[in-house]
Amino acid sequence: MPRALITGITGQDGLYLSELLLAKGYEVYGLIRGQNNPKLELVRNTVPGVKLVTGDLTDISSLIRALEVAQPDEVYNLGAISFVAYSWENALLTSEVTGKAVLNILEAVRLYSHDDMSKVRFYQASSSEMFGKVQEVPQRENTLLWPRSPYGVAKVFGHYMTINYRESYGMHASSGILFNHESPRRGPEFVTRKVSQAVARISLGLQDDITLGNLDAKRDWGFAGDYVDAMWRMLQQDEADDYVVATGETHSIRELLDIAFRHVGIDDWEPLVKQDPRFMRPAEVDLLIGDPSKAHDQLGWERKVDFPGLVTMMVENDLAEQRALNGR
Ligand code: GDP
Repeated sequence: MPRALITGITGQDGLYLSELLLAKGYEVYGLIRGQNNPKLELVRNTVPGVKLVTGDLTDISSLIRALEVAQPDEVYNLGAISFVAYSWENALLTSEVTGKAVLNILEAVRLYSHDDMSKVRFYQASSSEMFGKVQEVPQRENTLLWPRSPYGVAKVFGHYMTINYRESYGMHASSGILFNHESPRRGPEFVTRKVSQAVARISLGLQDDITLGNLDAKRDWGFAGDYVDAMWRMLQQDEADDYVVATGETHSIRELLDIAFRHVGIDDWEPLVKQDPRFMRPAEVDLLIGDPSKAHDQLGWERKVDFPGLVTMMVENDLAEQRALNGR
């Protein structure tokens, strides 16, 4: 039975990846910070088959202990401070957790492996946010990186460290440059979930309007459930490598609003949307669109859910959730 250790087990991707690996017959371990973590219940309820092991990405000795307990064949490093807007307010903490901690876990894997680099395969969750002020459209694996947020800068550090451990030590370390990926499990601070929740609440008469920031920003949005499959495929290759995982399509916040509102029968939605500079960013990533050809060709990966399918899935989920919460 193959064994996997996942950091960031409480997040959207940690849950989907756990479901995927459990279904494939893996023994799955999740790294969890402290016994009183409020998200523990979520993991226990959603993926009860996952075994939890205590550790903190910023503490290398705890990572080595976690590796000794889990004895993994594959390590997926999904743990990070992941909300871009928050990363300006907490730039140093973001550098520690999203950036420097990648070196902690790479080094922990190397020490645990006693330089037997065939022992563990490693996945790093890199991000399209590394492209920031995009230097090429669409963005590929070798597009020049130009991060535009402390989060993006920290992800660049982790990305190059992963490549360095591959090149310096021969570690089977792959980096997935994932474009935005969403789902009903996305945190409500991200714009897709913020919109799906608000649209559900507005249609149920629980809320009057929604306040957003930049409506012209564009993203390449895919479904998180599809993207974790690409992570797994990377670690099944003979050679480790870097891959862009994206849909190859880009959509604006306006298009997101249009599909979400129309799904609940509201065509004239403009009066329901307010704007507030509070939700604008000091520097914006304007046009993210990824070229997933390498992942298609080499991994045989394909997305299954398209953009309208994703948005309506999220709105439907929030309608059910809001009805249950509010007895409607
Ligand atoms: P990100 O790509 O990881 O930063 O994902 P987000 O979902 O947080 O943001 C996606 C885009 O939506 C960014 O360009 C934001 O500027 C834009 N946006 C517009 N209004 C909002 C808002 O109210 N909240 C968030 N989170 N993003 C917004």
